[in-house]
Amino acid sequence: MNVTEKQIDLLSLDTHELTGLIQSWNEPVYRVSQIQKWLYHELVDSFDAMSNLPRALRARLRQETTLESLKLIAAQDSADGLTRKALFQMADGQTVETVLMRYLDAPGSPEDSTDPPNIARRTVCISTQVGCPVGCPFCETGQAGYIRNLTLGQVVAQVLYFAREQKRQGYATPLTNIVIMGMGEPFMKFNVTWRAIEAFTDPARLGMGARRITVSTSGYVDGIRALIEKHSQVNLAISLHAPDDALRDELVPVNRKYPLRELMQACRDYVRATHRRVTFEYALMDGINDSPAQAQAVAQLLAGLLCHVNLIPLNPTSASPYQRSPYKRVLEFQRVLNQANIPTTLRVEKGIEIAAGCGQLRQQVTGRKLQTDKNVELQPVT
Ligand code: SAH
Ligand code: SF4
Repeated sequence: MNVTEKQIDLLSLDTHELTGLIQSWNEPVYRVSQIQKWLYHELVDSFDAMSNLPRALRARLRQETTLESLKLIAAQDSADGLTRKALFQMADGQTVETVLMRYLDAPGSPEDSTDPPNIARRTVCISTQVGCPVGCPFCETGQAGYIRNLTLGQVVAQVLYFAREQKRQGYATPLTNIVIMGMGEPFMKFNVTWRAIEAFTDPARLGMGARRITVSTSGYVDGIRALIEKHSQVNLAISLHAPDDALRDELVPVNRKYPLRELMQACRDYVRATHRRVTFEYALMDGINDSPAQAQAVAQLLAGLLCHVNLIPLNPTSASPYQRSPYKRVLEFQRVLNQANIPTTLRVEKGIEIAAGCGQLRQQVTGRKLQTDKNVELQPVT
């Protein structure tokens, strides 16, 4: 990676900013849409490929801007070949994870599908921070500490990496969904996350429908309120994990700043303003938050709210003291919620078998003991 400090990260510029840059170079404004088409529609990764730009402009772009805010240093595929996880390094040496999750639209493995394979959904899960300051004790990222926020360009570059990869595989629409659910708390720097959502939805850039994008927060009420102000159709997910403040203070420590009463009020306001349902994520931990009484308490907390609960059997991590709930208990928990008319999905996390649970590839590559799985091959990428 040869990114100098003077170089502008082109992916960190919105249309207005790119126009300002192009005008300051005394270039005609129509160059902006030409450049954006190459970057976000044609998905090229070099200035040389931008064949309708004059040679001199390409040279100036190459010299004064960059597209290389992320360098792939490791990748890992799930045994079924549907999930791929990438570890990127940035100019300051820090690393960040991104995951591509693909879902078959018909039974069968990619090996016996046509080319390109019969894959209905191609979702990329992106990170917003290096580490995470929230510090949830069951989460690998939370336990790794916190370094910094990603820049807008680094958030966008994660999506473009997998969009390019899927385009090479032959998909006319390379990605169908984006989930902002990787490392970090996306609402801590709301502005960066919102600008990334704009880059994904802006027709001049990625042009994805807002309803295909989901942002997950540990419960940053200020961020939820800022999202309400945007009148956006993006999906909101809340990492609930506990039905009462005492337990949630421990499992999702941001609860001490934004207790459940405030969080639930923000969720109700969100539904009222957007008429969109809120998704609650609930990682089931053996003997911690998975009793039928706690399921009742969740049902009570969510009663009357337009919502959906994703039940996720915990993916145990190296540093965490918690274990996954037994399946029987998971089903019982789900039954209690369903009986209270709360819709649920039992989500067997895509890619958990390749440690897609938040922050785990990073731990593996950057030093911690591998969480081994005999089906998994860790390939260094040059
Ligand atoms: N920081 C944001 C988004 C990223 S985490 C948030 O917390 O919402 C995405 C989801 O994975 C969150 O619901 C998070 O609580 C959950 N998660 C983290 N570690 C997990 C683990 N070990 N097992 C299961 N879910 C986990
Ligand atoms: Fe941060 Fe989300 Fe992990 Fe909690 S679960 S530490 S908020 S990334």
